[in-house]
Amino acid sequence: MRPRTATDHRPWPAASGTRSGWASAAALFLVMTTACAGPATGDGAAAAARPGAAGAGDRLFPTLGNGGYDVTHYGLALDYVPETNHLKGRAVITARATQDLSRFDLDLSGLRVRAATVRGAKARVARSGDELVVTPARPVRNHEVFETTVTYDGTPRTIEGADGGLEGWIETDDGSTALGEPTGSMTWFPGNHHPSDKATYDIRVTVPKDAEGDFYDVVSNGELIAEEDEGETVTRHWRAKEPMASYLAHVSVGYFEIHKGWTPDHLPVYVAVDPEESEDAGAVAKLVPEIIGWADERFGPYPFSSTGAVVDHLPGLDYALETQTKPYFAEAPDEALLVHELAHQWFGDSVTPRTWKDMWLSEGMATYAEWLWEEDQGGRSTDEIFEDFYDGTDAGAGGIWAFPPADPPSGGRVSDPPVYGRGAMVVHKVREAVGDEAFFDILRTWTRQHRHGNADTRQFVALCESRSGKDLTGLFDTWLFDKKKPTRM
Ligand SMILES: [Zn+2]
Repeated sequence: MRPRTATDHRPWPAASGTRSGWASAAALFLVMTTACAGPATGDGAAAAARPGAAGAGDRLFPTLGNGGYDVTHYGLALDYVPETNHLKGRAVITARATQDLSRFDLDLSGLRVRAATVRGAKARVARSGDELVVTPARPVRNHEVFETTVTYDGTPRTIEGADGGLEGWIETDDGSTALGEPTGSMTWFPGNHHPSDKATYDIRVTVPKDAEGDFYDVVSNGELIAEEDEGETVTRHWRAKEPMASYLAHVSVGYFEIHKGWTPDHLPVYVAVDPEESEDAGAVAKLVPEIIGWADERFGPYPFSSTGAVVDHLPGLDYALETQTKPYFAEAPDEALLVHELAHQWFGDSVTPRTWKDMWLSEGMATYAEWLWEEDQGGRSTDEIFEDFYDGTDAGAGGIWAFPPADPPSGGRVSDPPVYGRGAMVVHKVREAVGDEAFFDILRTWTRQHRHGNADTRQFVALCESRSGKDLTGLFDTWLFDKKKPTRM
């Protein structure tokens, strides 16, 4: 993700001040109440079975995600009518139990749940805030792979942060878009909505013909593997075959010009551009493969089976998001923003923060990728950009000393400037300390070791030290963990 202004380090656009709390999700700090009865009676598993936790244990977002199981696959079938903004959904969730489960939670915000089954048998459901509590007819045994199906419908919610930042299901002038960082995916499908539980996805979206008899387009993660014209409706089937955190799941419905191409490594490129933006987005289809080729050399092999971008027309949205395989832009992006969101495919999407506190690993690296790109394009050197951030003369950089990058004080501040600008400064300090050869070796080792997985701050610190053979305690204590602005060394 990148707010339009918060990390803008270039001297020319007149960004006005920093923003904070725009991704606030204070509403999610719920006090959970249990809604269902305890374990059913029966065999040994039943006796040992207990409810799965209502949260994944994230300190910043205590109720996001759930305990007791790991999702391996989401099969989502959505039926959406843009004219009425009505959504009908069927989610088939394949998961493996990590304990004997008498019941378990899914995260779901709004919508009406019509029915649920576990292993094909009717299950009881109860709602409590954004928790959907599912009680199977029989307990699920530890390690068992089980399938849960939930059917639901209604008008999906847009979540609005304290300062107007939008996520969730958002209507556009010609359809809608679904964006999930950090909490929005629960507005359009039930799931284990925490970055630590990644899964593969099949997303099928059925849309009708409009008044002119044209079908709406549907763009989502991964590759378009089938398109079925049913006369009055069309169903498009997208498949994300590499694991994905649910906050990176995305669907855009509307009208798009589609530009297809190839990366230098022959991966398919799919760029969807809203006609309202086609004039300003002219360079995007050419830049995507160029940036992917550039990043490949620095960060290691591109981690997914396709790439691209979605350039929508949604002037009310003030950020871009690294939705997996195709980052989402609310308007035509400039080069730096495109670099930022594409760099996230390595840092954030493939190697995903284990908790929301580890966000700086994703945002600091994506911001640093912008610095590297500018340096390589003959702009300021990364040293000069570092100095500009340190001096705080750049637009939007004023807030980067508010807290240490790896310790946002609340969930509402995980997208604040310290996570981005000071995060990138930490990365630059590592590069300075270990030299270019060891530095890029660290980045490539990081993306290889944690490819399609999760990683945290402790692991990054350990890797920097082990690959460089240096004790970097002082560096990290000063630049990453110290509450104060470090003094110039
Ligand atoms: Zn970002």
